[in-house]
Amino acid sequence: MLRKFTGIVWACVAVGLVITLIAGLLGDFSDSSDAHNSARAADFTPATTLASPTVALASPTATSHPIVATPTLPPATPVSTLTPGELAQYKPNELGWIMVLMYHAINHDGGDYATTPDELRADLQWLYEHNFYVVPASAYIKDEIKAPAGKRPVVLTFDDGEVSQFRYLVDAAGNKTIDPDCAVGILEKFYADHPDFGHGSALFSILPLAPFAWPDAEDQVPYEKEKVQFLIDHGYEIGNHTINHINMKQATNDDIKKELAGAVNMMRQFSPQAQMQVIAVPFGEYPLHGDTTLFEGFDYEGQHYASIGALMVGANPGQSPEDQDFDPYWIPRIRGSRDQIDKWFSFAEDNPGILYVSDGNADTITVPNTLGPTLTGALDQSKLHGKTLIRY
Ligand SMILES: [Zn+2]
Repeated sequence: MLRKFTGIVWACVAVGLVITLIAGLLGDFSDSSDAHNSARAADFTPATTLASPTVALASPTATSHPIVATPTLPPATPVSTLTPGELAQYKPNELGWIMVLMYHAINHDGGDYATTPDELRADLQWLYEHNFYVVPASAYIKDEIKAPAGKRPVVLTFDDGEVSQFRYLVDAAGNKTIDPDCAVGILEKFYADHPDFGHGSALFSILPLAPFAWPDAEDQVPYEKEKVQFLIDHGYEIGNHTINHINMKQATNDDIKKELAGAVNMMRQFSPQAQMQVIAVPFGEYPLHGDTTLFEGFDYEGQHYASIGALMVGANPGQSPEDQDFDPYWIPRIRGSRDQIDKWFSFAEDNPGILYVSDGNADTITVPNTLGPTLTGALDQSKLHGKTLIRY
């Protein structure tokens, strides 16, 4: 049965590859809609007004004339907690773009959906050396990014949950170690060696029929539960990738509900703490007409299911949550194949002014007064989520 399932998934991956290639040729980028954004806004605490300006006390000098009008003071201009020198050094820009990287197999199979262990290590090394800092997918989507000043947030995602992402090596005595060449082994080592890289964050969107025990990895079946729990205990997130890797564009609403709700329930058999807040849309194929209503929430068999966001397959960095075009249910990802990694890492080197750079303060959104043409006019102040906007 496992082999049959595996065959189906591989067939799906192959179809997905074709679809993705076509989408890439067409320019795979879906724009947001006002309906999406307004639905999202309801999920958040409304933006509060800026702190009241400090009002100067009235002069103690007595006057014989009654004061007839209260003077209106202009609102105080928020000031950064960073010094002018730090602002010049770090150049925070929290309106910039954020890369979400999308990996599948970590092996030597080749193709667009396989990344070798050394390639993954090299990607992490490049990110680390270029001031990137790993943040959880949920933090990006919820505009709760916490990164030190000057760091560029990046989100790591792994789809499908095949064995090359998380494999235990078991010796003759039954002792288990994490394969140093699987994704989790590589991440854990890199995080341990680089504690200032945002340890413990990556999203694993796992097919729940055989978490990290396919293809052809029946020996790993006894460890499915342990692996899922390991991820949660070490700060990773679990995403929803449906049960059967369905193409939602071709599915009925009832099927989509059954697949999304079923995946949540199955993953919670492995760990009740599995949050499943984010949907990694299989093949990047959204429900018909791009209707994400079900992603935002639905009832199924007496339970309510909702997600905070959804991830596409392809093909560019995502916008800041403060960007007018940001839509949490249409977040683009960069495929972990060499051509796409080379393309977007080069882009990042050549266009530092377009990337999100943290100000180190989770309560403020710091944006330069002078922006390049890509970001000029992109700020939507209704999306500040209660944070104070600082311009400099
Ligand atoms: Zn997939």
